[in-house]
Amino acid sequence: MTGEPTPAEEKVHYRACSLCEAICGLEIRVAGGAIRSIRGDKADPFSRGHICPKAVALKDIHDDPDRLRQPMRRTASGFAPVPWPEALDEAADALRKIRGRYGRKAVAVYAGNPNVHNWGSILFAPPFYRSLRAGRRYSATSVDQLPHHLAAYLMFGHQFLLPVPDLDRTDFLLIFGANPVVSNGSIMTAPDIKKRLKAIRERGGRIVVVDPRRTETTGFADEHLFVRPGSDALLLAALVQIVLTEHPDRLGGLADLVDGVDELAAALAPYTPEAVSGATGVPAESVRRLADDFCGAKSAVAYGRMGVSVQAFGGLCQWLVNVLNLVTGNMDRAGGAMFPRPAVDLLSLSSRGGFARFKSSVRGLPEFAGELPVATLAEDMLTGGDDAARALVTIAGNPVLSTPNGRKLDEALAGLDFMLSIDLYINETTRHADLILPPTGPLEHDHYDIVFHQLAIRNTARYSPALFPPGDGALHDWEILLELAARLDGSPWLERLKGRALRWYLRRQGPTGLLERLLRNGPYAHTLDFRQVMSAPHGIDLGGLEPSLRERLKTPDRRIAAAPKQFIDDLDRLAASLRAEPGARDELVLISRRQPRSNNSWMHNYPRLMKGADRCCLQIHPDDARQRVLTDGALARVRSRAGEVVVPVEITDAMMPGVVCLPHGFGHDRDGVRLRVAEKHPGASVNDLTDELRVDLLSGNAALSGVPVTVESEQPQPRAQLA
Ligand code: SF4
Repeated sequence: MTGEPTPAEEKVHYRACSLCEAICGLEIRVAGGAIRSIRGDKADPFSRGHICPKAVALKDIHDDPDRLRQPMRRTASGFAPVPWPEALDEAADALRKIRGRYGRKAVAVYAGNPNVHNWGSILFAPPFYRSLRAGRRYSATSVDQLPHHLAAYLMFGHQFLLPVPDLDRTDFLLIFGANPVVSNGSIMTAPDIKKRLKAIRERGGRIVVVDPRRTETTGFADEHLFVRPGSDALLLAALVQIVLTEHPDRLGGLADLVDGVDELAAALAPYTPEAVSGATGVPAESVRRLADDFCGAKSAVAYGRMGVSVQAFGGLCQWLVNVLNLVTGNMDRAGGAMFPRPAVDLLSLSSRGGFARFKSSVRGLPEFAGELPVATLAEDMLTGGDDAARALVTIAGNPVLSTPNGRKLDEALAGLDFMLSIDLYINETTRHADLILPPTGPLEHDHYDIVFHQLAIRNTARYSPALFPPGDGALHDWEILLELAARLDGSPWLERLKGRALRWYLRRQGPTGLLERLLRNGPYAHTLDFRQVMSAPHGIDLGGLEPSLRERLKTPDRRIAAAPKQFIDDLDRLAASLRAEPGARDELVLISRRQPRSNNSWMHNYPRLMKGADRCCLQIHPDDARQRVLTDGALARVRSRAGEVVVPVEITDAMMPGVVCLPHGFGHDRDGVRLRVAEKHPGASVNDLTDELRVDLLSGNAALSGVPVTVESEQPQPRAQLA
């Protein structure tokens, strides 16, 4: 019998969406092996039925004909399928040979952002790394949240002691360089963010956004202040300076634990609002009023994200955000910045961190937690000499589009001796690979979010079983990682593990087997067990955030360092920025933006998300457009030290004068990519303009924001218009 399935044949599946940080609950209806609908799960205690358009595209991801379903080997005539055992043997053999011949530093590995949304990768990449013994590790962290980790490590003693805004109770939310209405919250897992922001104002609270662009989030705010890209650290220093001089002794319940406040006050004394207003573009009286309002609120929290992380003073910015919360008594208290306590606590799973224990070969940039800044990846391959990286493994990453100077990285990847990619697609990066090993898709494996419960504004637990079985012979990410590890080293790490039971769990049950043990060792061990989590399709509410920093501090002396030496020393660089000469008269600065129907460098291959007009355009202020004789929709050529692109312009007073903005993740016009929907909307990659030489010298994070560019019309202008 054919025709539409009857409702009786329909099955309802509940799971958490793993596409972004918000971990929304989904209700997916399936019939006849096909997805009929994807809606928000109203019974999810955290997301309360909210979803965004990306969730609906899970069907497109699952059905995507471009998604790889078997290993692919590069041949003279393009990629060709290869059986799994052969592909795994070949990959391990090539990596082992290069490591044996040139040493560990010749092997590099890059992990992309999707890994943190995949518990198989989170739990099984570390043993793979141990077997690979790569001398160089990189990840998307150093084009993103590295400054958060550095501040957490130096102040609280652990890279994952990351405070998040207690959004549901705060009376004052001060946002720097973040657009949570589009990102759905970031380093702040907060599904249904719009309702949560509205609720702040409905209960009499206040929201202020500081950003060089009037963003979607400013529509939910009481006030928006334009700030010059790259100057946020000056503004934050001025806010802290005011608090320390005009509202002192406000450390509250943590006062007995905090060291360095006097040193902090002395170091920040020169940063008066008057001293920084020229560089920031924020009037001194606005800074004073902001500091007074923040201090006057019953509870308040400052929150800074990408805009303040990916800039030349990213480390200082994230430190000063924490310091502002700390010195106003808003750290680790209800309505302030709080530390989630998830059922699986990353603090017990991962290392505390570590900083500058070794440096990159060419520029001498510092490692963090064993990883080098990805801004050095291309030079480590191209100019490392005998020390150069010759083989690369990428895991769910597309650094050609997501790290600075993508064209240079393209060149470096093309010259490698060997490249292996664990990836779903032949994308702008993996097109350079010799072998691509595709894991199962997001609906074909089970999931428990290890990372984003750690950053959630409410404690919950949610396990999601797989919706579809894996395809014939398909392997999950963790199985690929284990198979490679076993071939690389005869799996010694597995054999070394204590206890036959644990080894059995790992082999037979993968991450699910580990979850039982992790819950048993977690903070809710007495009230929450594996069976409860496995049998709660909508997730389990574990309650609001509670003060916990005092007992969780990981600094060697169990105290909070308000003024770590590394940050105090870096203030010299900030002071020098105040004395810097302005850029050339025709120079603008470039920032990037995120879009609701996109996710970093992927999700442009899904028809549902790419409907409508092309979205890759350069936003520019009307005055800047007029000076360059640019009209709305006209093409402009944008040049930086690293490269140039041609894009249509959108003229809008949402931009601060002197600042232009491109969306992130486009640039699908490179040869050899197999993303047939994305290729119809190629756009231009903002990272063909960003400059690998621009980094936060303290943390090594890429300074993707505030790139000096020139913009000129690409269309010939009539003589009269040019005159
Ligand atoms: S907001 Fe994020 S987690 Fe929620 S549905 Fe959209 S992509 Fe999924």
